[in-house]
Amino acid sequence: AGRNEAVTRTLKIQGALHDALSSGHCSLHFQPKFRGDSGELAGAEALLRLNHPELGLLAPMEFIPIAERSGQIVHIGHWVVRETCRQIRRWMTEGLPAMRVAINLSPRQLMQPDLVSTVLEIVRAENVECHQIMFEITETVAMQDAPKTIEMIHAFQAHGFEISIDDFGTGYSSLAYLQRFRVKQLKIDRFFTNGLDADGHEGDAIVSAIIALAHSLEMDVVAEGVETPSQLAKLKTMMCDEIQGFLLGKPLTADAFGTLLQHTVAA
Ligand code: C2E
Ligand code: MG
Ligand code: MG
Repeated sequence: AGRNEAVTRTLKIQGALHDALSSGHCSLHFQPKFRGDSGELAGAEALLRLNHPELGLLAPMEFIPIAERSGQIVHIGHWVVRETCRQIRRWMTEGLPAMRVAINLSPRQLMQPDLVSTVLEIVRAENVECHQIMFEITETVAMQDAPKTIEMIHAFQAHGFEISIDDFGTGYSSLAYLQRFRVKQLKIDRFFTNGLDADGHEGDAIVSAIIALAHSLEMDVVAEGVETPSQLAKLKTMMCDEIQGFLLGKPLTADAFGTLLQHTVAA
C-alpha cells in the first residue's frame, strides 16, 4: 500500500505544481538574516511554499525534488525571482528600506544555458537593482561541474548579482575551486551550527576553521540554523558575519516581514 500511496501523493503534487502559479498556490516566505556584530537586519532569504488544495501546506523538501524531476522547477524558479523582485518593490513603495534578498537555485535551473539572461530580464523588468539579489547554490551542486559553475558565477557577478555557497561543509569541496568561485558568501550548514552545542571542542574547532577559511578568501560567513543563545554567543566571538535561524527569526510571510522592516526603521 505504501508505495501506491507515495505515487498517488507525488502525482497530486505534480498536478498542483502544474497550475500552482496561475492558481496562487505558491507563495514565498522570507527569513531574516542579521549581522553578527551589531545585530542589525542584514537581509532575507526567500523560501518557497506550496499550499496544496488537498494536502495542505507542503515544505520544499517534499515538493522541490518532484518539481526538479519533472522540470517544472525551471518555470517555478522564474516565478520565485519575479515574485521576490515584486515584493522588494512593494516594501519600497511602502516607504520601507531596500532589502537584499537571497534566492535558492536548484541543479536543473543551473543547467539552463539562458539562466543568467532570463533572470536579468526579469529583474530589470521589475525595476530592482541586481545587487539586491543574491543567488544561493549548494556546495554539492556547485562542485558537480566546477568549471561550469565558475563560468555561471562570473556571468552573474558581471551584472552585479551576488552569489552564496549554501550548505557549506556537507559536500566534498575542492578548496582550489572554492577559491576560484570568488563568491561573496559562504553559508555554514545547520549541521555544524548544531555541533556548537555538542560536548567537546571539535564542533567549535570546525566552525571557527570554516570562518577563518572564508575570511582568508575574502568571503563573508553566514551561520544557518542558529537556534540557541549559546550558539549565537560562540558565533559572535568567532566573528561570524551573519546569523540566520529560528532563535532570531523564523521564515515570515511578506506582510510579517514588512512589519519587521518597519520596526527596524523605527528603532
Ligand atoms: P536552505 O536554502 O538551506 O534553507 C534553509 C532551510 O532551513 C529552510 O527550510 C529554513 O526554514 C530552515 N531553517 C532556518 N532556520 C532554521 C533553524 O533555526 N532551525 C531549523 N531546524 N531549520 C531552520 P525550508 O524553507 O523548508 O527549505 C528547505 C530547502 O528547500 C532550502 O534549504 C532550499 O534548498 C530549498 N528551497 C527553498 N525555497 C526554494 C526555492 O525557491 N527554490 C529552490 N530551488 N529551492 C528552494
Ligand atoms: Mg538557502
Ligand atoms: Mg542551507
